Amino acid sequence: MLPQPTVVMKFGGTSVADAGRIKRAAGRIVAQREAGKRVVAVLSAQGHTTDELLQLAYEVSSSPDPRELDMLLSTGERISCALCAMAINDLGHRAISLTGSQAGIVTDTSHTRARILDVRAERIVRALDEDMIVLVAGFQGVSTSRDVTTLGRGGSDTTAVAVAAALGAEVCEIYTDVSGVFSADPRLVPDARKLPLVSFEEMLEMAASGAKVLQLRSVEYARTHGVRIHCRSSFEDGPGTVVIGEDETMEHPLITAVTHSTEEARITVVGVPDRPGAAAEIFEALAAANVNVDTIVQNEPRSQDAEAELSFTCATEDLRTAEATLAPVIARFGGAEIETDPEVGKVSIIGAGMRSHPGVAAKVFRVLADEEINIELINTSPIKITCLIRAESVPRAVGALHSAFDLAAGDIKAEVGLGVEAR
Ligand code: ADP
Ligand code: ASP
Ligand code: MG
Repeated sequence: MLPQPTVVMKFGGTSVADAGRIKRAAGRIVAQREAGKRVVAVLSAQGHTTDELLQLAYEVSSSPDPRELDMLLSTGERISCALCAMAINDLGHRAISLTGSQAGIVTDTSHTRARILDVRAERIVRALDEDMIVLVAGFQGVSTSRDVTTLGRGGSDTTAVAVAAALGAEVCEIYTDVSGVFSADPRLVPDARKLPLVSFEEMLEMAASGAKVLQLRSVEYARTHGVRIHCRSSFEDGPGTVVIGEDETMEHPLITAVTHSTEEARITVVGVPDRPGAAAEIFEALAAANVNVDTIVQNEPRSQDAEAELSFTCATEDLRTAEATLAPVIARFGGAEIETDPEVGKVSIIGAGMRSHPGVAAKVFRVLADEEINIELINTSPIKITCLIRAESVPRAVGALHSAFDLAAGDIKAEVGLGVEAR
């Protein structure tokens, strides 16, 4: 008899938000088992549980201890898994729920944003061999110093991909509250087009620039370990979106998607000393504090009296840490100052085809100009152009760029040959 293929199914917060939805997820999981698959399901915390737990923490402390924060936050996904296991048992199958630690997810020690170092999947494999359905609590692991860690917001996607890689699963299915990856956030752009296929390269840029439908790290992990991601709706059947390797892509449209983020902050250091090593000191300190920085711009002073400025952006949630981290560095610079602006947002266009087409940047700038939107910083990669703008202008910018590049019109890629059967 041929070995049964393994699938990993991940359900996000909205997909397990209440008892009815947990039961519905349980039904989908059981259907896969009955179709002859070995099934591991990774679940997120129900609805807004993670936000509520965070709020609780800040009600008792203005700077909650990161270790304790992880103890608290990791409970949300455990609740979902235990409930879902109960529902699956009632459907006549045997299910076991595991915490990240029990599932063998080993991480580094960076609390609240730990990285997975290893997945020791023996316990999952044993349970699968015993014909059980395994539920793994997403977003968490155990550190090399044996503390509970969490993987950063949206981290259940990464749990799912890491488990899929460790088990050699045929596919990692990400069930969410939209029917796949779209040409823009469908909540902002109602006529956004669902993409049947998206390349890893483009998906990485999309995730990095705000399309939270897949956590950035999950896409990185899948690319490195060769995991096939299939993103689809947990509420309706449909072909969803498959993330594929570059060599599988048939053709590259000029522009694939417009992404955005309003959770950005800008930090400017005014009076950076004009000597080698100043930028290194700033970014070494931020790296040590685990602050991810994005667009960086430094201006050389044009005259002896002018002050050098260095600006960068980071996620709003990192602003406080960034400021605290930079304070001693700035003090060493003598006379330098930090200015912060939490009201910025960014809009990006992504497309592997832009690599070989001049004029895309010019068109982006013209579209924003016609909307009277001022561009504050620009950041590019070979397949992405990002503009930092006022946060309040972001929805307008996204809509204008989406229609200027005709992203709603017609299907560029046919919805056939996905390599994964549609259910
Ligand atoms: P889950 O709880 O299932 O992990 P998330 O809220 O993390 O779901 O991600 C899904 C959300 O991502 C969607 O509801 C949608 O608003 C948002 N999103 C942003 N950009 C995109 C995009 N380009 N395609 C699809 N969804 C997007
Ligand atoms: N519950 C966590 C969050 O809200 C992780 C996840 O849902 O992926 O960020
Ligand atoms: Mg998510």
